[in-house]
Amino acid sequence: MTVTQEPALPELTAPWHTPERAKLLDTVRAFARDRVRPLADELDPQKGLIPAELLTELADLGLFGITIPTAYGGLGLGAFEYAMVAEELARAWMSVGSIIARAQGLGCGLADASRRDELLRRSAAGTWIGAIALSEPDAGSDLAGVQTRAVLDGDSYVVTGHKRWCGNAEAADFIQVLVRTRDPEDGEPRSAGLETLLLEKERGAFPDGLTGEPIDKIGYHGFLTWDLVFDGVRIPAGNVVTTGGDEGFSGVGSWLDIARVHTAARAVGLAQGAVEDCQAYLQEREQFGHPIGDFQALRFALADMASEVEQARAFYRQVAHLLDVGEDATRQAAMCKLRATEMAAVVTAEAMQLHGGNGYTTERSVERYWRDARLTTIFEGTSEIQRKIISDGLLPRPA
Ligand SMILES: Cc1cc2nc3c(=O)[nH]c(=O)nc-3n(C[C@H](O)[C@H](O)[C@H](O)COP(=O)(O)OP(=O)(O)OC[C@H]3O[C@@H](n4cnc5c(N)ncnc54)[C@H](O)[C@@H]3O)c2cc1C
Repeated sequence: MTVTQEPALPELTAPWHTPERAKLLDTVRAFARDRVRPLADELDPQKGLIPAELLTELADLGLFGITIPTAYGGLGLGAFEYAMVAEELARAWMSVGSIIARAQGLGCGLADASRRDELLRRSAAGTWIGAIALSEPDAGSDLAGVQTRAVLDGDSYVVTGHKRWCGNAEAADFIQVLVRTRDPEDGEPRSAGLETLLLEKERGAFPDGLTGEPIDKIGYHGFLTWDLVFDGVRIPAGNVVTTGGDEGFSGVGSWLDIARVHTAARAVGLAQGAVEDCQAYLQEREQFGHPIGDFQALRFALADMASEVEQARAFYRQVAHLLDVGEDATRQAAMCKLRATEMAAVVTAEAMQLHGGNGYTTERSVERYWRDARLTTIFEGTSEIQRKIISDGLLPRPA
């Protein structure tokens, strides 16, 4: 009788293991397997959206407030746990690993302390889920080129411009918008004059002056990604997001470090899914009178894939820890985003190969891992931009 080998699930080993983390991992892993994955298998091929009930369940588990202090109803944990949870959710459906990033205190950084406290509570409770509008048609990698204008008029800013790639914009409770309030003066960096504004809105609608068209993507379904036109949208003058940096732009940078580790973790989750599915398929599928897992070429391919995933996981956990202890880890965050996402693109493509024709159908999840992994080398800063950040730390920047 053939004995089927179950997938070996990644464990929390020393030095990262604590009983609390292990409990959180078990809870989220079971939730992702039992609730998220079946929905992904059903909805993603139809370009379906994450159902509202699932958002409620994520909120009940506290997953919108992993990094929010307990005083505001959050779990009071760090980048490590945030990334660990994101990996488990992305293993089931990357979009669910992404939607939790639209809370975690995002859209709460207002100067008014009582308003900030109220929003943090809502963020932790999953009733303040947002969207981020940084990119524009002519400003993607080069965010200093943002042209969307915010002009102060009485007690509000009037925002005019064109944003592209804004995920979850319509379904959001708010949109955090990167705008230009003035041009840089002579001698100032190109990023001078950029600010982040908080546009509060009704979930499921656009406010006056804002129109949007969904972009027809090849993956990353579960929520829509929007092309947005701002035509005189009013935002209260007090809704400037204070980031702790000297300008909106430098604040974006520090937030992007955590976002890059989060993206690395999502990529690891997708690649982990690919490995697990291959482990099962190589035992299930027979050719030439053997399970295809008897062929050494495929066994070694799986061994390489599993090793790459383990290495990328160890790296993102290390960098998450550095961020948690307050180290300046911008270069390491770029490195782990680069390595993990490039790894996931290769490993998920190899998983499709190992599935043969069945891999190239929507009957199997492997095509979803492959489509979603392909995106991870592009968004949150492309691989080339990660290499630019890394090399600028190693060599003098070209004039
Ligand atoms: C599905 C999806 C969801 C997204 N969600 C959001 C979102 O919610 N909010 C948001 O604000 N943005 C979002 N983005 C935008 C994303 O961050 C950008 O697509 C990304 O930063 C790249 O910008 P770009 O597409 O304009 O490419 P470009 O910047 O035009 O790059 C084109 C190519 O040139 C390369 N390149 C550019 N500059 C350099 C350089 N200096 N050196 C070497 N190579 C370079 C790039 O690596 C790339 O290969 C999303 C994008 C996608 C596809």
